[in-house]
Amino acid sequence: MQQITILGSTGSIGVSTLDVIARHPERYSVYALTAQSKVDELAQQCARFKPQVAVVGSAEAAKKLQMLLDAQGLHTQVGHGEAALCAVASAPECDSVMAAIVGGAGLAPTLAAARAGKRVLLANKEALVMSGPLLMEAVAASGAILMPIDSEHNAIFQCMPASCQRTPLAHGVEKIMLTASGGPFLKRDVNTLDQVSWQEAVAHPKWVMGRKISVDSATMMNKGLEVIEAHWLFDVPADKIEVVIHPQSVVHSMVSYVDGSVLAQLGNPDMRTPIAHALAYPERISSGVPPVDLIQIAQLSFERPDFLRFPCLKLAYDALQAGGSAPAIMNAANEIAVQAFLDSRIGFRVIDQLIARVMDAMPSVAITDIESVFAQDRSARELANSFIPS
Ligand code: NAD
Ligand code: MG
Repeated sequence: MQQITILGSTGSIGVSTLDVIARHPERYSVYALTAQSKVDELAQQCARFKPQVAVVGSAEAAKKLQMLLDAQGLHTQVGHGEAALCAVASAPECDSVMAAIVGGAGLAPTLAAARAGKRVLLANKEALVMSGPLLMEAVAASGAILMPIDSEHNAIFQCMPASCQRTPLAHGVEKIMLTASGGPFLKRDVNTLDQVSWQEAVAHPKWVMGRKISVDSATMMNKGLEVIEAHWLFDVPADKIEVVIHPQSVVHSMVSYVDGSVLAQLGNPDMRTPIAHALAYPERISSGVPPVDLIQIAQLSFERPDFLRFPCLKLAYDALQAGGSAPAIMNAANEIAVQAFLDSRIGFRVIDQLIARVMDAMPSVAITDIESVFAQDRSARELANSFIPS
């Protein structure tokens, strides 16, 4: 029986993970669940999955959760704050950790899981973008297993033999092709993009996701973060990672080999497929996702992305090229900009302008330890906030 910790269990990925786990009670049980503030939802999850520990964001939320659990006669232990998140991510009782907190807030517990040698199911791409070399070093040093949950990276993982995952170029991989839906604004007149509302931006044509990643998909910063994520997961340089727009979201990514073969993974756009794959690998388990119906879909199309329409994608390539703390700076500025956009404090087009301003103002420095990453992250957030009119 595998014991699982789900960091961010009330989110889109967290709920999909619980859906898959519930289909296989003989294989998986839940050790810990965590949520920032959705206490009622977390209490319901506790009643159903009976975790040993539940963690929330604040002392106040912990008090409320404790009351709800007591009222149901549940014995789940309650904790709060970052130290408690790191504790459930590294506890000896747990085997696998689903890292599904959104944004930089997920870095410390994800790193704790990697250092403790867990099987880390990585959805929280921002953690890897911020601290790529440090997280990969922690995984190598502890013998942790890092399984990509992001559908593109999970697809790439499935299209490469295990023996060449860390050295693909030496094993005949010519390039990685990351597919992208293009989001809700792929065909919209570029000159009207500064008028779009956050409601339009989060209405993704193919995927149902949390609000932050949905805005990232609309700007294509999500794909930019994924280029950096692919760089660290598979050790390939930026010029070997190509982004291909594929609006149907059926081909989740491709690997091109020197002999002319291109391997792709196909499926419906439902995160339960990569979650089930990563949970059970190298075995296969059912996920609740029906197989893709190609006859019904009929046509698959592919096109090149336009950096003028999607400047965030270019910023991400620039950050990867600059190296050091540049990706962490970009990620922090993006988080602040996206939140400001979701709060209707800035327009859609200001997102990329604000990130570019922060990146221009903060030169990249070497990142030697996790404290230096957090310091750069804090400075970039402060700077980004100072550029937002109050
Ligand atoms: P979401 O907003 O739906 O859920 C986020 C979860 O994190 C919630 O449980 C929330 O309580 C928790 N959380 C938020 N802020 C927190 C904080 N400061 N401290 C602790 N916990 C906090 O997000 P999501 O769509 O599930 O995405 C989660 C991660 O997975 C993101 O990094 C995203 O990029 C990645 N991802 C998501 C999808 C998807 O389909 N949703 C696909 C690929 C990758
Ligand atoms: Mg993705």
